[in-house]
Amino acid sequence: MIKRFIVIFGTLSVDQKLLFDKLLQNNDELFDVKLQRENEIEKTEKENQKFREELDQMTAAFANLQVSNKKKIQELDDKIKVLKDQSRYKYVLDFKHDGFDDEMSEQSDSSASDSDEDYNLPPESKRVRLENKYSTETWENIIEKLDKGWSFSTIQAQHKKLSDRKEISRMREYLTSNGSKIQKYSDIHLAVLKDFLNMRSELEEIHDRDLIDSALKAADELGLTTFKASEGWLHGFKKKNRIVSRKINAVVTKAQLGNQPELNDIIEEFRGNMKAVIAENRLEKIFNADQTGIKQEMISGRTLAVKGEKKIKAVVKRVNATTHSYTVQVLISAAGKLVVPVMVVFCEPKRPACFDQQLLPFKNIKAYSTTSGIMTSQLGITWLKDIYKPNAGENSILMVDSWTGYQQAIDQDNGSVQIHILPPKSTSVAQLLDVYFNRPFKNFLRLISCKIRRLFPKFDLSNRQGMATLIDIAIGQFSAPAFNAMIKYAWFASGYLEERPAEFETPVAICFDSIKIDSKCGCGKRAFIKCAHCDNFYCFDHFVKDLHRCYV
Ligand SMILES: [Zn+2]
Ligand SMILES: [Zn+2]
Repeated sequence: MIKRFIVIFGTLSVDQKLLFDKLLQNNDELFDVKLQRENEIEKTEKENQKFREELDQMTAAFANLQVSNKKKIQELDDKIKVLKDQSRYKYVLDFKHDGFDDEMSEQSDSSASDSDEDYNLPPESKRVRLENKYSTETWENIIEKLDKGWSFSTIQAQHKKLSDRKEISRMREYLTSNGSKIQKYSDIHLAVLKDFLNMRSELEEIHDRDLIDSALKAADELGLTTFKASEGWLHGFKKKNRIVSRKINAVVTKAQLGNQPELNDIIEEFRGNMKAVIAENRLEKIFNADQTGIKQEMISGRTLAVKGEKKIKAVVKRVNATTHSYTVQVLISAAGKLVVPVMVVFCEPKRPACFDQQLLPFKNIKAYSTTSGIMTSQLGITWLKDIYKPNAGENSILMVDSWTGYQQAIDQDNGSVQIHILPPKSTSVAQLLDVYFNRPFKNFLRLISCKIRRLFPKFDLSNRQGMATLIDIAIGQFSAPAFNAMIKYAWFASGYLEERPAEFETPVAICFDSIKIDSKCGCGKRAFIKCAHCDNFYCFDHFVKDLHRCYV
């Protein structure tokens, strides 16, 4: 086009040329404007694109948030459902307030919330008055204004109750600390609830001390040092989650078995004979021995909780643990003494060279191993020679069941042990460890392992030393004189002793239920256990890791 202009340019008059120059000049300006416009449009387009991308990202983030919130709500709903359902289960929640026993008592509410000092900051008269001056909302408004740079006098003009600039900073401090505190309380609440639900699948009984343990642990983790897990808090927690206390039925023995008349007669005859023997001898010289198989899964309920699903890794790890069962050969006297050390037969498909070395520190047990974890006749012989005879001494009397291992051991012996063998099939009614001892023993193991798993998850209970630690502690505690009456009770309940022993507390009651909110180890840490020998509280490190043995 420009070429065509140049061609006709020569034919133009002067005036026309001038006009054309002007047009051309304007055209240049127009070109510049056009270029500028195009640049601007391009720039805006880029900005728009960026903005659209940002918008997309935000929309996606919002959608994700909605999904995760929905999930959270669903989870909470599920929890609530489970809790609502829980009355079908039995719990022991030994609450100390009167009137709070079998059912949630409404009357005890007011007294409980009064004692709930944890929710309040220490009383401070000035602060309370500040709170009363304005609502929280107004206070937040005032603080915001100050942050925006308003002068105090301007703010004061609008909020006439303000007398001093410091009031605002005091209120700011109060609101922020209280706010975070409230958040932390709710975090503790959730943590305890989670623990409670986990415990329910693991424990037959859940006590207040379990909830307190888990609350204090959560508080520790949140750095809330002032939290005390008071009874008021506990009450509030239980009420909120509708956790009620249920009494557990007394120990049910398998005594119903005796519907075969001949067996009953045989057992009665055996009892009669034993009673006569016991009457003629010192109770310290009369013994009963029995084996108890401990399956790892029995004391780590989590194994049972992991069923099906895709948690193959977890299952495999636990399957190894479940095969790690062991047998404990317990020996008790009619005087109520548990003889230490106790023979423990571990299951070791391939016994490692370090076996003896690893188990040496556990003085309450004498460790052996078989490929199955079950006692062999050979070990029966070893037991009689190495454990029974040195401990029982001369002229002892031993009562055992009809296991062939004992028979062989007796055959090999030179006849120095007087032995009474229970009639076959009678063990469930006449074998006293079965009748009373085994249950508290397994309860103790289950409780301590659950407690360790919950509070000290890094401590591995599924390996050899972990299992040995538990059994060593349990044996050590059960050998305390405090439990003589319990062991004697086993003889009484099985019909061998006439005299009913004195009232007694179970090991779980003495070692764990006795732990109060403020029970502390000598080192100042929270108590993990109370030693039944020395009656002192100990933390996990000083009792479990240090293998506390005050009784040697
Ligand atoms: Zn002790
Ligand atoms: Zn300590």
